[in-house]
Amino acid sequence: MFLTFDDGPDPEHTPPILDLLKAHGATATFFLIGDRIDRHPEVVQRIVDEGHELGNHSWGHPFMSDLPIERQMEEIARADASLSTYDGRATHPFRPPYGVLPRNLLTRFARTGRTIAFWSYDSQDYERLPAPVLIRQVQADPPRSGDVVLMHDDNAGTIELLAGLLPEWRAQGYSVRAMPAGRA
Ligand SMILES: [Zn+2]
Repeated sequence: MFLTFDDGPDPEHTPPILDLLKAHGATATFFLIGDRIDRHPEVVQRIVDEGHELGNHSWGHPFMSDLPIERQMEEIARADASLSTYDGRATHPFRPPYGVLPRNLLTRFARTGRTIAFWSYDSQDYERLPAPVLIRQVQADPPRSGDVVLMHDDNAGTIELLAGLLPEWRAQGYSVRAMPAGRA
């Protein structure tokens, strides 16, 4: 399965998540918010150094539907430029904040051959439920091998959730990887 984290980098919560991934031989894609990249450069550098992939989650995490198309493209280009200083890639897979994708942005992406990096499995870690409850929810309806799993590296609950799930997934023989680097 493919593991993804949104809304980082977070100086408190991203490092323990990186520790867990390393301990279990897993990699992930981190969809970072641009204005947090500049505030926590050491966290971003560590993500790259440890073999994970960077994704674009806009500059300021707006509702894209509130912005004219050129402002939307600026949000994405500015985050891409910042990410590029870490991994050398000109563009990155883009995941729209709140999953809101206006038609004009979708059209622009289609015209330029860029892809939208949605998820197929929602861990619901943003609901701030106790970790045992979240873990049981995932166990009751688990992701399958091709799923793109959505998590958030901005809260302590996700760390507990991941600490519970990674050993299980490993025991079940799943490989946990970053999204394949395709067209961005
Ligand atoms: Zn987000």
